[in-house]
Amino acid sequence: MSRLVLRSALALVLAAVPGAIAQAPAQLAARSDVRAVLDAIRSTNEWTLQQQVALCEIPAPPFMETARGVAYKAAFEKIGLANVRVDAVGNVIGERPGTGSGPTVVLAGHLDTVFPEGTNVRVKNERGRLTGRGIGDDCRGLAVVLATARALQSSKIRTPGTIIFVGNVGEEGPGNLRGTRHLFDKELAGKIDYFISVDGIGDGITSRAVGSHRYRVTYKGRGGHSYGAFGNPNPAHALGRAIAAIADLQVPTSPKTTFNVGIVRGGTSVNSIPFEASMDVDMRSESATSLAALDAQVQDAIRRALAAENARWPKATDHLVVAIDTVGIRPAGTQPDSARIVRVASDAARILGWSAELSASSTDANVPIGMGKPGITIDGGGSGGGAHGLDEWYEDGPRGWLGPQWATLIVLSLASNR
Ligand SMILES: [Zn+2]
Repeated sequence: MSRLVLRSALALVLAAVPGAIAQAPAQLAARSDVRAVLDAIRSTNEWTLQQQVALCEIPAPPFMETARGVAYKAAFEKIGLANVRVDAVGNVIGERPGTGSGPTVVLAGHLDTVFPEGTNVRVKNERGRLTGRGIGDDCRGLAVVLATARALQSSKIRTPGTIIFVGNVGEEGPGNLRGTRHLFDKELAGKIDYFISVDGIGDGITSRAVGSHRYRVTYKGRGGHSYGAFGNPNPAHALGRAIAAIADLQVPTSPKTTFNVGIVRGGTSVNSIPFEASMDVDMRSESATSLAALDAQVQDAIRRALAAENARWPKATDHLVVAIDTVGIRPAGTQPDSARIVRVASDAARILGWSAELSASSTDANVPIGMGKPGITIDGGGSGGGAHGLDEWYEDGPRGWLGPQWATLIVLSLASNR
C-alpha cells in the first residue's frame, strides 16, 4: 500500500463527515465493535501471512484447483462459517448469514494460478520478502478473504445481509472466469447483490471491466510436397495474409481497444506445404461496442485471407478451409464512479488513510459488471511484483493488515443496507 497516512488521521476524517448515512464506512469505523474487529485483524496479521504462505505451497494449476480448495474449505470450517461447501465447478463457499433481508455480499479470492503442474511452489521468506509463484496473485486475496471472515466470526457484529465468502476457481486465462460465471449463473443465481473480488497486491479498485475475445484460428488444407504439389493453396500463406491484415487494423485509443496475435503454429518441414497453420488472437476493450466492432473486422480479415489464398491458385485441386475456435470470451463493461459499491470502497479506503485509484482491468468482476450488476475487484494490500512470473514476490510492509481491514469495512457497509 502506498500513499498511506497514519491511522491518527482517522479521527479527523470521522469528524469531517457528520450526517452521512448510518452504515457508511465512516460511521461503521466509529463503532467500537467494528473498531475491535479492525484491531483484531491488525493483531493477528502474522496468522494472515501464514495462511497466505501455506495456501500458496499447495499447487493450483488451471483446472486443478482441488487440493488448494480442500485446504480452503477446511479453513472456512475451522473459522465456523455456515453452509460450507464446494460447488459443482470447485468453488469453495462459506456463509455468514444475515439477520434480515439486507443485501447479499460476496467476497472472493481466486484459487487458481497460471503455473502448470509440477511447478515448484515453495515460498521463500527473506527478511519479510516472500517469493513464491502466486504469492500475490492470488494467495494474497485468499488470505485477505480468510482474515476478513475470521475477524467477523470472532465478533458479535450482525449484518442484515448475508456475507458469502468464496475461494473461486478459473480466474486466470484458460479458466475464462468459469468459477465466477458459475456463481452468477447457477450456484448463487439471482442472489448476489454485491460482488467483491480481492486480487493481488496494492491499494486500488478495479471498477471497469476490460473485456476480451480470444480465438484460435486454423487454416487447413491437404498439404503436400513443396515442389511436387506447388500450385496448391498454402495454409501458412493464408495465415500470413490474415496476420498482415489484422496488423493494419485501426482501433480507438479511447476507449482503449487492442489486438494481438500471440502464438503462431504450423508446418512440418521446410519442403512441405503445411496441412495446417494456426494463430491465437487476443482482442481487448473497455467498451463492448468497440470490442464487437474489432471482432467483426478481425473475422472479416480472416475470411478475406482465406478467399485470397484460394483465389491465388484458381487451378488448384485443393481448397483451404478455416476454423475459428473460441478460446475465451470475457464481457466488457463499465459502471459509474458514483455506483454505491465503488463509493463504499473508495470511502472505506479514505477512512483507513489513502485515496484508492479507480482503474479498468480483466478480473472476476468482469462477470457482474458485464451483466450490469455491482461488482469490483480490490487489491489485497502490501506490495509486490512479478505476477504470473517465476519470481513473483510479496512484501507485507508496515501496514499489510490494511488489506483485510479494507475488505472488512466494505463488506460490512454493503451488507448493512442497500
Ligand atoms: Zn489474479
